[in-house]
Amino acid sequence: MKYSFYNLVRNSFSYHENWEKAWSSPELKPEYDVIIVGGGGHGLGTAYYLAKEFGVKNIAVLEKGWIGGGNTGRNTTIIRSNYLWDESAALYNHAVNLWEGLSSELNFNVMFSQRGLFHLAHSVHDMQEITRRGYSNYLNGIDAEILNQEQVAKKIPHMNMHGRYPVLGALLQRRAGTARHDAVAWGYARAAENLGVDIIQNCEVKGIDISNGKVVGLQTTKGSVKVDKVGLVPAGHSSVLADMAGFTLPINSVPLQALVSEPIKPILDCVIMSNSVHVY
Ligand SMILES: Cc1cc2nc3c(=O)[nH]c(=O)nc-3n(C[C@H](O)[C@H](O)[C@H](O)COP(=O)(O)OP(=O)(O)OC[C@H]3O[C@@H](n4cnc5c(N)ncnc54)[C@H](O)[C@@H]3O)c2cc1C
Repeated sequence: MKYSFYNLVRNSFSYHENWEKAWSSPELKPEYDVIIVGGGGHGLGTAYYLAKEFGVKNIAVLEKGWIGGGNTGRNTTIIRSNYLWDESAALYNHAVNLWEGLSSELNFNVMFSQRGLFHLAHSVHDMQEITRRGYSNYLNGIDAEILNQEQVAKKIPHMNMHGRYPVLGALLQRRAGTARHDAVAWGYARAAENLGVDIIQNCEVKGIDISNGKVVGLQTTKGSVKVDKVGLVPAGHSSVLADMAGFTLPINSVPLQALVSEPIKPILDCVIMSNSVHVY
């Protein structure tokens, strides 16, 4: 059912008790053309775009827990493209472009709020770093503004500019902001299922069947399944899955954790991050 003002009003007559589930819980079929392992934002997004842009019909996403229960539902929700390296700049910016139209594309409010991000500089070295990054962003066509101390103080009047970590300036990306992280998984899941993708939760991939050097099936906690192509999108478990397929990835996974405060009534209308203090 499309989320719209009309359907909101219509469903109010039945006290909102008859909304369809956003996605169902289908049984694992014996065979798929494509299986994506990992039901985070990337896995669900991959399935959605494969179905939408490439017309692939018979796709499943297998998730060992619940969708969005990995990194996707546990991050600090910042969306930005003001990273340094030329090689990845276009990729990050493409992602921000996608975010700008994502709620209407998926018919799901991902609560993307482009409130601007200030990356603070606390030392001469920090100033040199943000200046280098700002110019690198300009050259890649990414919005960036290098602000001095006075400009930051004017834009964020209640910030203490002269504390233990004095603020000398900031790199501002106005198009950056935050989103509701789990809504990304839910939105992609709902839109992918509308295109025929099976989303199967509580289904862990335990083994990969290979014949003549090609993947032909998967062993899962819900039984075995035949498949033509597999996309491994399990984030920190990538090397575990690669190992099942018989190859070694040149990467190691490391834990990343965020300590998140109680929500407080917003006093800032923007995002502020400081690498030196390591606080957002
Ligand atoms: C603390 C923290 C803060 C972050 N802050 C930000 C931020 O502010 N901005 C930003 O852009 N990024 C941030 N990130 C990074 C971002 O969250 C991740 O890059 C992104 O969510 C990864 O999505 P994913 O779909 O690749 O992985 P995940 O969401 O982790 O999904 C992978 C899924 O694979 C499943 N899986 C694993 N093994 C198997 C298996 N054998 N069988 C079936 N399923 C399996 C897992 O259960 C998991 O659900 C942060 C990450 C962390 C941890």
